[in-house]
Amino acid sequence: MKSFVFPEFQIIRDEEKCGQCRGCERQCSFGTHTYDPLTDRLISDDYKCAGCQRCVIFCPKDAIVVRPTQSFYRPNASWSREKIEDLKKQAETGGVILTGCGNDKPFRIYWDHIVLNASQVTNPSIDPLREPMELRTFLGAKPDLMDIDFKGGDVEIKTKISPHLMVETPILFSAMSYGAISYNAFKSLATASKQFGTLFNTGEGGLPRELRAEFGGNAIVQVASGRYGIDAEYLNCAAAVEIKVGQGAKPGIGGHLPGEKVSQSVAETRMIPVGTDAISPAPHHDIYSIEDLSMLIHALKEATNYEKPVSVKIAAVHNVAAIASGIVRAGADIIAIDGLRGGTGAAPKAIRDNVGIPIELAISALDMRLKNEGIRNRCSIVAAGGLRSSSDIIKAIALGADAVYIGTAALIAMGCTLCQKCNTGKCNWGLCTQDPRLSGRLNTEIATKRLTNLLNAWSHEIMEMLGGMGINAIESLRGNRDHLRGIGLYEWELEVLGIKGAGQ
Ligand code: SF4
Ligand code: SF4
Repeated sequence: MKSFVFPEFQIIRDEEKCGQCRGCERQCSFGTHTYDPLTDRLISDDYKCAGCQRCVIFCPKDAIVVRPTQSFYRPNASWSREKIEDLKKQAETGGVILTGCGNDKPFRIYWDHIVLNASQVTNPSIDPLREPMELRTFLGAKPDLMDIDFKGGDVEIKTKISPHLMVETPILFSAMSYGAISYNAFKSLATASKQFGTLFNTGEGGLPRELRAEFGGNAIVQVASGRYGIDAEYLNCAAAVEIKVGQGAKPGIGGHLPGEKVSQSVAETRMIPVGTDAISPAPHHDIYSIEDLSMLIHALKEATNYEKPVSVKIAAVHNVAAIASGIVRAGADIIAIDGLRGGTGAAPKAIRDNVGIPIELAISALDMRLKNEGIRNRCSIVAAGGLRSSSDIIKAIALGADAVYIGTAALIAMGCTLCQKCNTGKCNWGLCTQDPRLSGRLNTEIATKRLTNLLNAWSHEIMEMLGGMGINAIESLRGNRDHLRGIGLYEWELEVLGIKGAGQ
């Protein structure tokens, strides 16, 4: 059937500059560029271009430009180009439109409508280059009261403290499963976590056995509805266990790893046959109530000898605060909430773009509810889904998060250009693929360096902003919304965020 959909991108090759090295042909896994022996020229098929920009960056002559197509439909306020083309694609295929990455719709990004405070005159600012500044963060349940014994100059804590995670910066790597991402990408996240003193999350795909001894101490291992790759060793080698109930990119539905991405190694790690689709169910079939969730939390604590914190990850949805309250009472030590703009390897576009709420609103709602109920100390909050910079992170902490997960930002650090083709398994940057030719493009040493550089840069910026507010420990900022003001927001939005408007 002839497709009636326009190509999304237009490829312009400067024939004068082109040295005919055929590099672009080798770089593109989508077969966009081919050599035509008849004309002795490289030709490009705009229809195949994913807009990943790999050929542009690797062309030694800077001879290629890839830009959005110039073709357009008659402007129509109701029928945008995207709406028309999605409909055409479905008329041609009869299927659900799958996509990768997070929600790209113009929902309000509250980070860009919140400003931070800075000290002036009194409560002077602190210079992080000259004075100690604390970003170390402890995640887990804190006791209601501390029984402390002072013996001479020594302090003895007599209260039994629940197991905690300690990270050197409040930035953790989000759940990205081996299978959805390549082995090299997975290993780079693990190595960067270890080098920097933070944590990565295995996602629902298990932890390859050969990585357990070296990186288990920096891993949060997930237990998702598909129960892939879970055994006692997997649970016990990790720093913490996370029950994944939902994720921001696709709340309410399960996961799907296409059979093409289930290589020998992915299959062994997930404990499933090679080449089979890994479809995790929408619900956990043993969780239909908070009591059921509590049983699983306690089963996992027992399986790990009560030595590991247990986290529960949920998508940010309408009544997230009430759900979180139940999760804390069920015994979770950490709640991970994933907002509307959270990334994914594959999700139905209709779900990705229309379900859930922005993480900014969810953090505040959750923090305020748990404080009002007097149970905020019983869990830590890790926020995820759309954190793009150090300033987003510090605002998330001031809104009430203890730490954040970054996923898409980590992928971008390693080379991702947000082309949204993760679900095809043909990622030209070697990130979301199991094709050895493509995954081999990702050099783990370089990718690790990019990740640790990012953590270093953002941690330093966070220290500078903290110092500017006259605060020397990140923990003192958590939930301190008085350091935030809103700009261009409605009253109801300020109320949900729990912040004043600028000038107030
Ligand atoms: S990579 Fe650049 S120089 Fe090489 S064939 Fe393609 S356009 Fe020409
Ligand atoms: S991970 Fe790869 S396929 Fe996915 S958006 Fe980034 S560049 Fe594209």
